[in-house]
Amino acid sequence: MARILDGKAVAARLRAGLAERVAGIGFRPGLVVVRVGEDPASGVYVRNKDRAAREAGFESRTLHLSEDTAEDALLREIAALNADPAVDGILVQLPLPGHIRAEAAIAAVDPAKDVDGFHPINAGRLASGLPGLVPCTPRGVMHLLREAGVKLRGARAIVLGRSQIVGRPMAQLLLGADCTVTMAHSRTDDLPAECRRADILVAAVGRPEMVRGGWIKPGATVVDVGINRLPDGRLVGDVAFTEAETMAAAITPVPGGVGPMTIACLLENTLEAALARRA
Ligand code: NDP
Repeated sequence: MARILDGKAVAARLRAGLAERVAGIGFRPGLVVVRVGEDPASGVYVRNKDRAAREAGFESRTLHLSEDTAEDALLREIAALNADPAVDGILVQLPLPGHIRAEAAIAAVDPAKDVDGFHPINAGRLASGLPGLVPCTPRGVMHLLREAGVKLRGARAIVLGRSQIVGRPMAQLLLGADCTVTMAHSRTDDLPAECRRADILVAAVGRPEMVRGGWIKPGATVVDVGINRLPDGRLVGDVAFTEAETMAAAITPVPGGVGPMTIACLLENTLEAALARRA
């Protein structure tokens, strides 16, 4: 049976360490989450981020704009946050209402305050192997792998999914850690065979329990980024957990695996942004 990689515990330690560092720097790093409209899942995420930030000693607030906010009005709000010296980190909560282009909102954030790491400048830095703000979920996955002592150098890793927010940056970080990386997506031929070659499998596709036990190389490390709500209300990942745990050496559960790491890494990014800006 696989060892369970307990993201909740690792994230709690990470947040406690950040709280200690914040207590020692003499100011409270400022985080602003910009939310537009009433997407219900966003409401939960935003409240969780806000609570975790406050608990760790950050100055956190949510700028909640109405659903009918025009794109240029949102961009003006972001420009004001860029100019505000008390604000170290800005996060535009996705999804945005359909009449606002997410890429325009993301590009409007000052790259030095882009704690989501989605700005093209930060994405380009990551792809170029330069330092910058790194997207929170892949950063959290790297923390989990390192905490678990998973061998990265020379390991074959596969990333399922190539989104800007998870798959692509995930592959870049694994490459930076000297893994041999395969990026798979919906057009990949014979995905099960590709997966069976991988020592590390990261699933970020948003398809409930798509990755079956038989896709997993015996002894592999399986990281399940997916969060999928089934019609019966259950929350499952992209990996069929009970099958996979008989094959893998280590596996993240859903919930309680990658999810908690994402928020902890948002705080880590905010502290880093604050220290860099105020140096
Ligand atoms: P996207 O929908 O943006 O991307 C999904 C990716 O999966 C695409 O690249 C797509 O390929 C690929 N894909 C879809 N179907 C298949 C398939 N049948 N076989 C192979 N690849 C496939 O999703 P995100 O990256 O935003 O999120 C992925 C999952 O991670 C979701 O469940 C989301 O809820 C979760 N998530 C969890 C977070 C956390 O904190 N734990 C944070 C962010 C996301 P193609 O490009 O070809 O279309």
